Amino acid sequence: MMLSMSRATLRRYSTSARFYNEKLRPTLPECQYNPCTYSGPSYKKIQDIRSKHMPPSIKPVYSEPLLLTEGKMQWLWDDKGRRYLDMFAGIVTVSVGHCHPKVTDALTSQMGKLWHTTTSYMTSPMYEYAEKLAALMPGDLKICFFTNSGSEANDLAMALIREHTKAFDIIALRNCYHGASPYTIGLTANGGWKHGYANGFGIHHTMNPDPYKGVWGGAHCRDSLSQTDRKCACAEGECQASQHYLDQLQDVLDTTVGKNVAGFFAEPIQGVGGSVQYPKGFLKGAYEKIRAKGGLCVADEVQTGFGRLGSHMWGFESHGVMPDVVTMAKGIGNGFPIGAVVTTPEVARSFAVASHLNTFGGNPLSCTVASKVLDVIKEEGIQKNCEVLGAKLITELSKFRDEFEVVGDVRGKGLMLGIELVADKETRAPLDNPTVGRIWNDMKDMGLIVGRGGLNLNVLRVKPPMCINEHDVDFTIAVMKQAFENHAQSI
Ligand code: PMP
Repeated sequence: MMLSMSRATLRRYSTSARFYNEKLRPTLPECQYNPCTYSGPSYKKIQDIRSKHMPPSIKPVYSEPLLLTEGKMQWLWDDKGRRYLDMFAGIVTVSVGHCHPKVTDALTSQMGKLWHTTTSYMTSPMYEYAEKLAALMPGDLKICFFTNSGSEANDLAMALIREHTKAFDIIALRNCYHGASPYTIGLTANGGWKHGYANGFGIHHTMNPDPYKGVWGGAHCRDSLSQTDRKCACAEGECQASQHYLDQLQDVLDTTVGKNVAGFFAEPIQGVGGSVQYPKGFLKGAYEKIRAKGGLCVADEVQTGFGRLGSHMWGFESHGVMPDVVTMAKGIGNGFPIGAVVTTPEVARSFAVASHLNTFGGNPLSCTVASKVLDVIKEEGIQKNCEVLGAKLITELSKFRDEFEVVGDVRGKGLMLGIELVADKETRAPLDNPTVGRIWNDMKDMGLIVGRGGLNLNVLRVKPPMCINEHDVDFTIAVMKQAFENHAQSI
């Protein structure tokens, strides 16, 4: 039944026009900003350049790829002057808003003073930022390295833990994403991003503790206002699913590595993997097992950091764990290229056996931006905004599970949410790619940009700039509802 339905749906998609119906489009919230009229190369010219000069490994998103020309806070405009609510933030990166005026002013002012020196010299933007960032970190996490991206940050974290422990093996979770450099692509466990060249030496992946799709999971596993629709036989305060996944990790440790490991990587909530949350207690138990093997624990906060989860500044805090190394990127610079690795003096000392240089890491421009982003997060109550609006969003979105056949799961925390689309609620089989694409394109046509993720790209990711307001939440819910209704009526 399920198969025949999806084949029929597929056929329909290949022949029929888009869902979009102007009359059913929810009204975009007001916006005071007037963008410039776009005067750059035509859409056709850009497409032409794309086909001639851009690598085919950069896959197009949307059936008519967007040519974006201007951004202001939570808004984006395309070449035709159409306005979109950006609920994906350039892949969870524009943290405080596109071209945030305070950040733009700080950058403009620094641009007239000093662009670049390398870490060989002292500059006040880098040193002041290190002090500010370290003040936000708990415990002994006080030494900051600066990079240009998340992959570089995780590359460095791998080197740090290997150097410190003098061990080689690293454990990560299946379905994780930690980067695309030759070193980190080995850590990443998502086939859609893997190339065939040799990678992953010494890296072992344990079963992903996914309480929705995984072998184990129940009705209380997640630190979220929205739980799975699975049953649970756990007593109060107990999580059997967590224990089962920890047993899997123990099995990996017993069978695939020797006496010692260098460490363990995990995202506090998986990002690219589709906003997957682990059962409560899993990360804590995993850290204990890794430390029993002499390893260090790395929290990849590239997506979850800087208050996005609402309850805490850092995702690892919401799991009650203390990592030895924390990696950051994306939201740290609101779209400006910067990454960071924060660790303890002890770990940093072990790495000082040789010199380390990253030419652009910590440059005055990126550190000025990152510093102002931290000010804005504090001054504008960004973390609280994530908590309050995230709660409203997930409460409303989770109702879609009861209303629409294709909505299998709604999960996440703060402004890091995921909606998993399924072909069958019982089996949790993913909704086929063209159908998800159709619904997703429909949302875009109505003015809403959300992301896609998960192994089957069937999870809609809602991770906006953290400056959104109640009207934006209402619009997001209205557009999603309309898109699911359009889909339901088309089958
Ligand atoms: N870690 C996580 C959790 C990520 O989501 C990403 C990027 N999607 C990276 C690392 C790699 O970051 P970058 O693309 O800046 O190298």
